[in-house]
Amino acid sequence: MALRTLDSLGSLAGKRVIVRVDFNVPLKDGVITDDGRVRAALPTIDHLIGQGARVIACSHLGRPDGAPDPKYSLEPVAQRLSELLGKPVAFAGDTVGESAEQVVAALADGDVAVIENLRFNPGETAKDAGERRAFAEQLASLGDTLVSDGFGVVHRKQASVYDLAELLPSAAGYLIEKEVEVLDRLTENPERPYAVVLGGSKVSDKLGVIEHLLPRADKILVGGGMLFTFLAALGHKVGKSLLEADQLETVKGYIATAQERGVELVLPVDAVMASGFAADADHVVAAADALEDTAFGAEGMGLDIGPKSAELFADAIRSSRTVFWNGPMGVFEMPAFAAGTRAVAQALTEVDGLSVVGGGDSAAAVRQLGFDDAAFGHISTGGGASLEFLEGKKLPGLEVLGWA
Ligand code: ADP
Ligand code: MG
Repeated sequence: MALRTLDSLGSLAGKRVIVRVDFNVPLKDGVITDDGRVRAALPTIDHLIGQGARVIACSHLGRPDGAPDPKYSLEPVAQRLSELLGKPVAFAGDTVGESAEQVVAALADGDVAVIENLRFNPGETAKDAGERRAFAEQLASLGDTLVSDGFGVVHRKQASVYDLAELLPSAAGYLIEKEVEVLDRLTENPERPYAVVLGGSKVSDKLGVIEHLLPRADKILVGGGMLFTFLAALGHKVGKSLLEADQLETVKGYIATAQERGVELVLPVDAVMASGFAADADHVVAAADALEDTAFGAEGMGLDIGPKSAELFADAIRSSRTVFWNGPMGVFEMPAFAAGTRAVAQALTEVDGLSVVGGGDSAAAVRQLGFDDAAFGHISTGGGASLEFLEGKKLPGLEVLGWA
């Protein structure tokens, strides 16, 4: 079944439209450090304003404990939204209480309001279905229609994501529509050759994705912290590098499966070995089969793929027509160990076909390294949600919108 999209809702003029967005932005001392998620919600909100709807935006922010906590207030986000829209945005100091009711009642056609953090209410994330439903009913009383557009939370069975969509006429907004369209292309009939580039800290975070994509991809490239578990599975010593000993057998299984299915497994041929986990640590390049043969010996710690690997990876990426990348190639947060991640990001921008970046840290990495979002085919806004989608899991927040 297909996802219900905005046009399925008919005219929204004069209607109170609740739009569930993902405004879960990083904040430092009350200041938004990356407003990417607010920007990602603009196409849908602009469309609703253009239709003359009365827009009620709601979201979670951080992990407050089911009670109001000023540290996680959405007020700065409402201000940022107002700047981006170039028009006033009303803010309600509660989510479903008096303030929310008053703010909604005062909306004229085309006006926008933000209500306070959904997770200030225990019902939003309650495991108990009845408690969740009761909160969703309170939310539902604020609006006539729901537009669900918080892709980052569609893997969660939460009141505003799931129950609310059952209570009101509902459809996906443009962000969810785009995410689903792109991620679906990565699992169903991708244009070939199809390369999957995996990195990040742990193999154990990515098992589901590897298992689901391994049979679908033509090439799997492995970098980041997890590469050391792969090298160890091949019998190489890895010093003090990140190694998940309990995943060695699983990884050996992946290596065997890749061979059986004729999937090209591209592993690094070299790595940057450092004296320790620090931005100013001494470091040298070592061959993948001689990681302990440096001045640091068995104390060395691999913090990035090496320059030969970066070139190898870039070639494998550029010669593909579909590329999905999740997980930085090294500890990109430290400039000395960002070169591998930069090379992979650069290669993705040169793909003649579809290039997709998924994962919270990967998206942060490309921005931090100065790449323009538009240089990629798509940067997924959902870390966990996009990975679960690619694992082939059923996501409650999408199923409730008709996706199957
Ligand atoms: P994403 O959020 O994109 O899915 P992950 O959360 O899996 O990515 O991993 C991101 C983290 O992995 C980054 O903070 C990065 O510093 C870390 N990382 C990458 N390579 C290494 C490495 N060789 N050793 C330790 N940590 C690493
Ligand atoms: Mg992460």
